[in-house]
Amino acid sequence: MYHNLKERIEEIAVQLVEEKSIVETEGEIDVSDKVYEIMSQMDYYKKYPEKLYFLPVKNDPWNRKTVVAVLNGEKAKSDKTVVFIGHTDTVGISDYGSLADFATKPYELAEMLKEVSSLKKEVREDLESGKYLFGRGIFDMKSGVAVVMALMERISQSIEEFEGNIIFAAVCDEEGSSKGMLTFVPELVRLEKECGCHYLAMLDPDYIAPAYPSDPNVYQYIGTVGKLMPTFLIVGKESHVGESFSGLDPNQIAAEITRRVNLNPVLSDVVDGEVTLPPITLMQRDLKPEYSVQIATKSILFFNFATHCSTPAQVKEKMLKVGAEAFRAVINNLNDAYVIYCAMSGANYESLPWVERTISYERLYALVKAEVGEGFDGMVRRYAEEVSRDPELDVRDQTLKVVEYVHSLWSDKNPVLIVYLTPPYYPHIYVEGVMPEEKLLIDAVEHAVSTTKCDYNLVQKKFLPCISDLSYAAAPKEEGAIQALKDNMPGFGIVYDLPLDDMRELDLPVADIGCYGKDAHQFTERVETEYSFMVLPEILYKTTKYLLEH
Ligand SMILES: [Zn+2]
Repeated sequence: MYHNLKERIEEIAVQLVEEKSIVETEGEIDVSDKVYEIMSQMDYYKKYPEKLYFLPVKNDPWNRKTVVAVLNGEKAKSDKTVVFIGHTDTVGISDYGSLADFATKPYELAEMLKEVSSLKKEVREDLESGKYLFGRGIFDMKSGVAVVMALMERISQSIEEFEGNIIFAAVCDEEGSSKGMLTFVPELVRLEKECGCHYLAMLDPDYIAPAYPSDPNVYQYIGTVGKLMPTFLIVGKESHVGESFSGLDPNQIAAEITRRVNLNPVLSDVVDGEVTLPPITLMQRDLKPEYSVQIATKSILFFNFATHCSTPAQVKEKMLKVGAEAFRAVINNLNDAYVIYCAMSGANYESLPWVERTISYERLYALVKAEVGEGFDGMVRRYAEEVSRDPELDVRDQTLKVVEYVHSLWSDKNPVLIVYLTPPYYPHIYVEGVMPEEKLLIDAVEHAVSTTKCDYNLVQKKFLPCISDLSYAAAPKEEGAIQALKDNMPGFGIVYDLPLDDMRELDLPVADIGCYGKDAHQFTERVETEYSFMVLPEILYKTTKYLLEH
């Protein structure tokens, strides 16, 4: 089933790369059309055209769409179904510079790259080895999509010998806001009810890179990392720079929080010996709209926070603690500085009036609601709806606006640190092996890997280290996780939403078993074809068969 697919996979992969499909452009439609066109030429879909269809993203400015292909084995009736996803969008091509015209022409690009004198030694060796194909999206992840398409084509040619079902979605917008996947999740739930199928696992052949330079391993990830963006809105006290000790500079508190949180491994999640990268700032700025000699009143600071086990509530608690400690440290430092300043200038020292206050958005909301009364929920909802329609604001700005609005309705104008969660949210999925479906997937991958003979050092790990659409195959299982998310992500359900009920219903274990290569999102992006086009199809086919037969 998986032998001699190399040429066909390469042919499809190159065709997909040739359709330039940068995220959030109309090129995304072209590549979806190409996937549809290739699959519609398979005899199986000529016979069953209704099993191949487009799934449009609702209210999308580019009218993007996902391609869904259903394949039902005919050997015996079975409800067992394996779900595959793969994204067809790519990042932009500006990194190719003067070679941008060749970014989507793998064979010509390889020739052009040979003339580039500044290539790193490793890239040049790979280029000259003839084992790699270069091009935007060839590694991330059109080759992975091509592997699934070629495998489905092969299986469909002897569908009467195949038992069980495959559903494949070629999704759009993975590099953006995952709108393709978030549209596909409710569709999967609908299909499950309509067809009476039973999903076993979700597989995504997205790219697999070395974990460090000269890493000899090729990984298969059973499970995925998650991501939250804990955020601090810091409300200080403005003052003229001529009286700076009478103000409280929110930038100073922000700096102290960053010093304590940024790349601090104490905040890493560790599960099964696998460690997340510690948090790092994605934004730190004051909210002063113009230059003036007044110090800022408010600052915003948020972090990328990778998770293997921490829930939204736990991350919020950790940030409340760090925030309170940082706030107190700043007050102490200011008082120390003021003592010295007063002594130097002969002024009379009185301790500064600042009091540490650190609260969650949930708490702020409750406090303000107690003051405003019954109409408060409606006011916040209407305000969130209004900002959600503002095309000048992205979802992060809209969320911030909601927090500022709620705070503005509070009679208490004293300094405060408000902790909330900024979208997007990617839940982690830990495939522990306790539940039967988890165990089945782990066994399936282990079986596939151990029976595949190759010269590669295959290693299974628990968490795909980069965020991906796989996160939406299940909702967080931990008690209260969803409520904590809703309560602390301002405007949730209006400015940002997730199909949490459908995710909970799917509740699938996931794996990323994908093409091997290097330098995703760089102009030297390349896929290694021996593993990707010869070994990977065998592993994916055997994993699928094992899932369907056990
Ligand atoms: Zn990708």
